[in-house]
Amino acid sequence: MKSYLYFVLGIGYWIFLCYTLTMVEYNPAGIEKKWRERWEESNLYAVSSPKEKKKYILDMFPYPSGAGLHVGHVEGYTGTDVLSRFYRMRGFTVLHPMGWDAFGLPAENYAVKTGIHPSDTTHKAIATFKKQMQTMGFSYDWSRELGTHTPAYYRWTQWLFLILYKKGLAYRAKAQVNWCSSCQTVLANEQVVNGECERCHTQVVQKDMEQWFFRITAYAERLLKDLEKLDWPNSTKLGQIHWIGKSEGITITYDVYGSDQKIDCFTTWPTNWGASFLVLAPEHPSVEKITTPSEKAAVDEYLKTVQKRSESQRIKSREKTGVFTGSYAVNHVTGEKIQIWISDFVISHVGTGAIQACPGHDMRDFEFAKKFNLPIPRVVVGADGDTSTIERPEQVIEKGQTGKMMNSDFLNGMEYSEGIQKTKEYFVKKGWGKLVVNYKLRDWLVSRQRYWGAPIPMTFCDTCGWQVVADSDLPVKLPNDVDFKPTGESPLVYSKEFNSHVVCMKCGESARREADTMDTFVDSSWYYMRFADPNNTKNFADKEKLRQWLPVDIYVGGAEHTVLHLLYSRFITKVLYDEGYILFDEPFISLRHPGTILGPDGVRMSKSRGNVINPDDEVSKFGADTVRMYELFMGPFKDMKPWSTSGGQGIHRFLKKVWNIYSKQAFVKKSPQQVEKNLHKLIEKMTKDFTALKFNTAISALMEFVNSSATQLDKSSGKTFLLLLAPLAPYIAEELWETIGEPYSIHTQKWPGFDEEKIKNDVYTLAIQINGKLRATLQVESTITKDEACRKALLIDKIQNLVQNMTTNIIYVPGKVINIVTS
Ligand SMILES: [Zn+2]
Ligand SMILES: [Zn+2]
Repeated sequence: MKSYLYFVLGIGYWIFLCYTLTMVEYNPAGIEKKWRERWEESNLYAVSSPKEKKKYILDMFPYPSGAGLHVGHVEGYTGTDVLSRFYRMRGFTVLHPMGWDAFGLPAENYAVKTGIHPSDTTHKAIATFKKQMQTMGFSYDWSRELGTHTPAYYRWTQWLFLILYKKGLAYRAKAQVNWCSSCQTVLANEQVVNGECERCHTQVVQKDMEQWFFRITAYAERLLKDLEKLDWPNSTKLGQIHWIGKSEGITITYDVYGSDQKIDCFTTWPTNWGASFLVLAPEHPSVEKITTPSEKAAVDEYLKTVQKRSESQRIKSREKTGVFTGSYAVNHVTGEKIQIWISDFVISHVGTGAIQACPGHDMRDFEFAKKFNLPIPRVVVGADGDTSTIERPEQVIEKGQTGKMMNSDFLNGMEYSEGIQKTKEYFVKKGWGKLVVNYKLRDWLVSRQRYWGAPIPMTFCDTCGWQVVADSDLPVKLPNDVDFKPTGESPLVYSKEFNSHVVCMKCGESARREADTMDTFVDSSWYYMRFADPNNTKNFADKEKLRQWLPVDIYVGGAEHTVLHLLYSRFITKVLYDEGYILFDEPFISLRHPGTILGPDGVRMSKSRGNVINPDDEVSKFGADTVRMYELFMGPFKDMKPWSTSGGQGIHRFLKKVWNIYSKQAFVKKSPQQVEKNLHKLIEKMTKDFTALKFNTAISALMEFVNSSATQLDKSSGKTFLLLLAPLAPYIAEELWETIGEPYSIHTQKWPGFDEEKIKNDVYTLAIQINGKLRATLQVESTITKDEACRKALLIDKIQNLVQNMTTNIIYVPGKVINIVTS
């Protein structure tokens, strides 16, 4: 009987012990689920209209792929989440929405392979993405969720198209366009990277096709100039400046000898006494007219070979090719007859598609002249004084180099750049040339021969031509009865649903619908505005709501969109601004790019290398709080950095340590003064670091504080510490907030302020000795470095006089003494 009782007591003891142990154990899975549900129930992150101050903090919305979120997404989204939480705690109303850039080729290509409809794969992928984001504890206002593939959204993408069309900013034209034979569609210039399709890396070919364009070139100067207003990474601004490609130069008109043809040549750097031949692009309209009968066969042969080369191949190629037309022009200033050639290094849409070659002073022209044995006159003498015949590349004095004019009549002896300026003036005065500004930027090709996109709201009538679809008939819905096999023609051509009962707006006769769809970059060019008012059925967004929320204050996403999304969005914003729909003319005030996360092996993550880190695996190992903190702790936010498998464990240990302190509630009665001081310094640092997106240093400071001070926290400083932790690790902070008896929710509390007095550094009196004898004293802050202390000591007149012209050796005892030993 007695032993039975002991046995029961023993069991009871063990159950008790296990119970208390599990009570204090940090169990992320349990608490994260608990708080996620609570936050969702209480709609913690939904916002209506901004109160006094607002922040619109936005991630570039993702394309929901079947692969789910990757750690790169998580890095950027955690960064904006921390900022959103931080600014909420500082009294801002924060708009922090999420949506889906859901149209696009991958879903359609998958449908081609498997027969599964893109809308099915897209919905599934969105559900996965959303669940993963919720698991990570991202504080999005899900009541504003949008998808570009929904009729409620693309109705307004179509409206946008019509706004541009009515303003003459959308037009249809036949042009040389980029064609991806694998994707079976045309591409915008911005989507061709190194001559390849940015999606599938197939070599892009040129095709003459009639397509829809947006006239972004009409905005070139404003797109360039307004970059000054933006707080964007310099490299991104430079990327756009380069892409817009403004150049100021002169177009010089040449008469073709013995013909009434004239050829315009654009140059930014006229060295005309050295112009010794002209070169036309193979597509130049004068080619046919000026080719002489004797050269015709050779020219035709050359034109054939050129067609096979893409524009970027032509630009990159070091090997110069070309053919003589048989015709001549006359050099205005020398009166000489100069040959007219054709070469594919001249691009038809760059400048005027024709150049005057000055081979002595332009390397490309030099290479061409060398290859085809054309004259190379010298009209500039460089810094080396060499005036001999130009035969080697290093003798070519190009734009930007220094030199003096020679063999150039009245310019002789002038500085090179002045000579160029005077040439321009002279040619304008003589009526031989016109000053012009040129841009490299081309119009934006927006039509695609694919299914999974927003239909272009236009119809074609044999009598009346192209007609807009009436606003009341929007959206033009994407049909379901479609065969996805890409044929080079839009799959919509064969849809019965899409093509029945189409009538011309003007004459009422039957018409056909435009079967091309819009590029997904049109969808994403305005989505940030829709978030202000995502469920509006009357307008793309309410004007007052747009005024309240826009522009975006902080925009975070990949740098790969520099000349795509980031340029297109600026253009669309300016168009809507000009039309009076919005009051801002730049969409994104501050922009930051998170750095790429490499695999643990320091190489870009890829399936084939097997170095892909799946955020889900990391969350199931450590919990979302650890993964969030680790992603931001890895290194500076904007830097490329490798994933470390042990890094997560370090953060996890830190959170466990915090957990243990709070779950024991082992607070001291009053924190020592030093701990108070450390805490206020921590508040100051984290406030500054979060504002500057320096998450990694903020986390380091937090960890240091725990190491130095965590065992000596009183209740008040313990609360403050949790507030600082809350934006980074929202789950554990919320749980511990509850543990210490504070009311729900920590995320609606105020961010702590710091006391300037408390963080002031202590001041010491430093004794200044010379050879051990006290000569002066100095008040210094405790954090002063040895160098700084010595510099200050030597600034004292008395000390300076005593050690003048002597070799000295300095012994420094921090906080006490500087002893200057002379020898
Ligand atoms: Zn492609
Ligand atoms: Zn008609």
